This record gives sequence, structure tokens and C-alpha cells, in this order.
Amino acid sequence: MQIIRHPAEMTAWAKEQAKAGRRIGLVPTMGFFHEGHISLMRRAGQLADQVAVSLFVNPTQFGPQEDLAAYPRDFERDCAMAEAAGVTALFAPEAAEMYPAGFSTTVTVGAELTGHLCGASRPGHFAGVATVVCKLFSIVRPDLAVFGEKDFQQLAVIRRMNADLNLGVEIVTHPIVREADGLAMSSRNTYLAPQQREAALSLSRALALARKMAAAGERSAERLTAALLDFIHAFPETAVDYISFVHQDSLQPAVEIDSQTVLALAVQIGGKVRLIDNGLVL
Ligand code: AMP
Repeated sequence: MQIIRHPAEMTAWAKEQAKAGRRIGLVPTMGFFHEGHISLMRRAGQLADQVAVSLFVNPTQFGPQEDLAAYPRDFERDCAMAEAAGVTALFAPEAAEMYPAGFSTTVTVGAELTGHLCGASRPGHFAGVATVVCKLFSIVRPDLAVFGEKDFQQLAVIRRMNADLNLGVEIVTHPIVREADGLAMSSRNTYLAPQQREAALSLSRALALARKMAAAGERSAERLTAALLDFIHAFPETAVDYISFVHQDSLQPAVEIDSQTVLALAVQIGGKVRLIDNGLVL
């Protein structure tokens, strides 16, 4: 596995691959790998000849009060895990290489996709995400890129940007990878104290409750939301950021749920750790 630090070197690598007729699969990440990341890398390896992973804790997608400085990092461990997963190039640039002096371009996806859910509680977040992913697509020139369904609003934003800007990358999605007890894997789970780890189960269990109620015939997003709010707040140290039933592609709110409706959740645990989860309800 090659470790590449500079955008120009990364592009040179990509051109070599293209010249040799090899397809590149890219997995963009912020590192501190878990099985969710690894399954994306393996998927990329099944679909492409070369797997490039970007490891970059992108400062522009963090708000001023967020956890940029504290975000967990373990470069050595990440390298070993990526190599074992068949990654051939790990692109790990410094922020100053990605955003040199004078940098002044932002990719903004419209408010219909970014104005609610995580976009409402994290202003500027999706502009940061769209801009860095656009840059990564330009630098790595992948044929395909694999993204996790865990960040499902991010996925909708990237699909829109990819189509609107004719970037021509095949966007591949991968289901949420979970711990045995249902908690969606996340680098941020490492912040959870033992008693908060229990409270973190409120998200996946709320998803299960919504599915159970829907299977029993409940279709009202309003009644489901009220039931889930009580359910989640019964766990200690939880504060709901949002409980939203939305159409899986348009992200527009659903009044009555149907087979296209995704339940999206964001919950603060212990006032500090913000976790997300989502899934189809029916
Ligand atoms: P991150 O490092 O958190 O920015 O995530 C990098 C990629 O891994 C994104 O496409 C995420 O959606 C994906 N990802 C993160 N956690 C999971 C998970 N538990 N299951 C599947 N994909 C995930």
C-alpha cells in the first residue's frame, strides 16, 4: 500500500492507473477505522482494480463548537487495517495541502437537501463535505466511490453534486454496519463512557420500535415521532436533536409513511457525543 501525502502525487498515481486501464475505487474517510470503513474498502476492491482511501479529518465540515481537535486519530493502526483490507493507495494530505493560502471556492448544494436534518444543526457542514468530496474526486479521479448509508443525507448531497457538476463518478452505497447489539459503528462511539454506551442504543432501538409500530399499521409520522421522542428520552443522558421521517431520495418530510420513507435520527448523548442512525421503516 502506498501512502501518498500530496495531491499532485495522488493525481499522478491515478493517471498511471488509468493509463494501465485499471479502474479506481475511492473510499473517502476521516480515519479511525472500524468495520464500517473496512467493509466499504472491501466493497471497492470487489468493484475496482485499485482501491484508494482518503484519510482526511476535513476541518471545513466541523462547526466552531464541534470536535475537530478531539476527533479520534490513530494513523498507524489505520494504515495496517487499510492494507489488510486490500487498499493500494492511502491518501492522507495535510489540511494546508488541501486548503492552501488563497483557497476560496465552496461547493454548495441547495437547501432542499441541506437545510434540514443534520444541515439544520450543523450549518456549513454539507458545504464542507461537498467541497472536500469534489476536491477528492478531482485529485483521485475515481471510476467509482463507495459511501456508507449511515450518513444518508451526505449520500443525497454527494449524488446531487456528482450529477449537477457532471463529475461522472459511479456512486456506490453500502449498508450500515452495526455492533452485535445494534449500535451503528462510528468513530465517535469511542467518546462514549460505559453508561453512555447503553444510552447510545436508544437510536437503533427507536428504529426497531418505529418498524414494529409501522408493521402493526401505524402510518402517521406525527404519532410515530411523538412515541419515539418519549422512548429515546427514557434513556439517561439523551437529548433528541431530530427525529425525522423523510423520503429516501428527496429527503422531503413524510406525513404518512410508506415503503420509501426513511427514519433519520440524531441524538446527543451526555451533552457531548452526537450520534446518528437511519433506516427504511417499512
Ligand atoms: P467517516 O470516516 O465517519 O467520515 O466515514 C467514512 C465513510 O464510512 C462514510 O461513507 C460513512 O458513511 C461510512 N461509514 C461510517 N460508519 C459506517 C457504518 N457503521 N456502516 C457503514 N458505513 C459507515
